[in-house]
Amino acid sequence: MASLCAARAERRAIADATGAIVERAIAGARALCDGGRAIDDHQVAVERVACAATWARVIAALADAPDELGEIAGCAAAELASELVHRLAPVAPVLGLAPLDDHGAVGRAIAAGVAPAAVERIGEAAIAVGGRIAWPLPDTLAEIRGHARAFAERAIAPHAARIHQSDELVPEPVIAEMARLGYFGLSIPARYGGHELGHLAMILTTEELSRVSLAAGGSLITRPEILSKALLAGGSDAQKQAWLPRLATGEIMAAISVTEPDTGSDVAAVACRAEPAPGGWRISGRKAWCTFAGRADVIALLARTGGDGARGLSLFIVDKPRFFGHEFSAVQPAGGTLSGRADRTPGYRGMHSFGLAFDRWFVPADQLVGGPAGVGRGFALQMAGFAAGRLQTGGRAAGLAQAAVEDTARYVAQRSQFGRPIGDWGLTRYQLGRMMHRTVAARAITYAAAAAMDADERAAAPLAAMAKLFACDAAVEVTQQGQLLHGGWGYAEDFAISRYVADAQVLPIFEGTRPILALKVIGRALLGGDVQLDGRGQPGGP
Ligand SMILES: Cc1cc2nc3c(=O)[nH]c(=O)nc-3n(C[C@H](O)[C@H](O)[C@H](O)COP(=O)(O)OP(=O)(O)OC[C@H]3O[C@@H](n4cnc5c(N)ncnc54)[C@H](O)[C@@H]3O)c2cc1C
Repeated sequence: MASLCAARAERRAIADATGAIVERAIAGARALCDGGRAIDDHQVAVERVACAATWARVIAALADAPDELGEIAGCAAAELASELVHRLAPVAPVLGLAPLDDHGAVGRAIAAGVAPAAVERIGEAAIAVGGRIAWPLPDTLAEIRGHARAFAERAIAPHAARIHQSDELVPEPVIAEMARLGYFGLSIPARYGGHELGHLAMILTTEELSRVSLAAGGSLITRPEILSKALLAGGSDAQKQAWLPRLATGEIMAAISVTEPDTGSDVAAVACRAEPAPGGWRISGRKAWCTFAGRADVIALLARTGGDGARGLSLFIVDKPRFFGHEFSAVQPAGGTLSGRADRTPGYRGMHSFGLAFDRWFVPADQLVGGPAGVGRGFALQMAGFAAGRLQTGGRAAGLAQAAVEDTARYVAQRSQFGRPIGDWGLTRYQLGRMMHRTVAARAITYAAAAAMDADERAAAPLAAMAKLFACDAAVEVTQQGQLLHGGWGYAEDFAISRYVADAQVLPIFEGTRPILALKVIGRALLGGDVQLDGRGQPGGP
């Protein structure tokens, strides 16, 4: 395989070559879009460039992958390079790009990496190791990953199928043990009661939890991540002291409420209102898709306190009682009401996503994030939270893809057709090999984004969006391929692969749909250099 797959130097050469193509594409898109001001006039070209830039960033991350993964990383990089060229081809003329199909030596490395024999061998190796991917880590991180895996397999895996099939809420003992293990405070600073282990530790934990259940595992960490990042970005000292330790210990569980029935991607158009009242604010309006809103103790809620646009929005921490069913309603002593009803979904079960109706629901003044100075800052604070949420979702997607690879590697080894295990057939091995290297690529970009977030969260926000975009695509593709390799049994609820497929579908929708991430986060950052996240139309929804 070594002779067929790119060695580290060849991976680096592919990364350099694709990086150069993307630089030219970005320059062409900048010229086309008046320095980023006219993105909406050229959406297709910008989406292609944003995806190509994302693919190039994944290839760069693969070039730095550990040597133990060199062969898989090489095949992944080669295939992504080939896809990148194809993605840009339709818009090459408007971007002023020369023909993209002749890369000399790099082209030969790409061709070697995508050669069927190379990918088939990865599939063969995947069957031999049950789909496990041994990504080497420093001791502390390896220990964190090992603990998370053991916990997930012992405490969550036995419930995962039942929760999905009966649309149950994640069991309280799971939340309690995750809290005891410190999983809700992995990236909260130690001075606020967290573990301050950094984003990579958070991602590794998330991957292992998501590998056994997307909703009843890895997604529980998303909400405290988002709210704690918003508090760190704009909360007053008193608010940080009051809320972060309680989030870190799991004493309070949070939900995030941005989306409304008529407002999704255009977050700046949020209509739910907060009116001043004696001692605080009264919230009135409808929200949609608020995941975990029943069980949560608080809802981080974006509401309008001023005029139109992003600057009229503020972020509140809204208390509410816990509810464990699919519907609830509550009345405050002063008459405020809140009701919720969960929308039925094909996957992502275990937390339940609610439509909410607030009517004069009271929130004390000190629960407006940032205090009086936080009025009108809600949009920016919410976006600070979303960057962390998107990174975390890269980990969720990588964990889900990993689960699909493992189940499929085991299945094709034991299922026989035409007198042989289906894993002996070349096409099966090739397809499994692609699942394996796509999953490695999802990890590579997510780990790179985690390291970048550790260094500078604000600067790394577009990279976190790239990790989310790519890893979610990978999870959709890998789970579907895994389902196909299970044949009819892949469609049976008793086989976990059918749950993985249903769960993966939601990943490119929330926290900013895939097109909105490409156009308004990645595209905008690439073309305008504007990562201030204070304009209209930023993507929303965890
Ligand atoms: C299971 C689930 C859980 C969720 N959990 C939460 C949660 O906890 N909290 C929360 O606040 N939200 C949550 N969401 C909501 C989610 O974030 C939104 O669904 C998402 O942001 C998209 O909004 P929308 O559904 O209104 O779609 P729309 O914004 O109406 O978009 C519809 C389509 O149009 C495209 N589109 C929109 N505008 C443009 C444009 N300018 N140019 C080109 N294309 C465009 C979009 O990409 C999309 O494909 C959840 C959603 C789901 C399904």
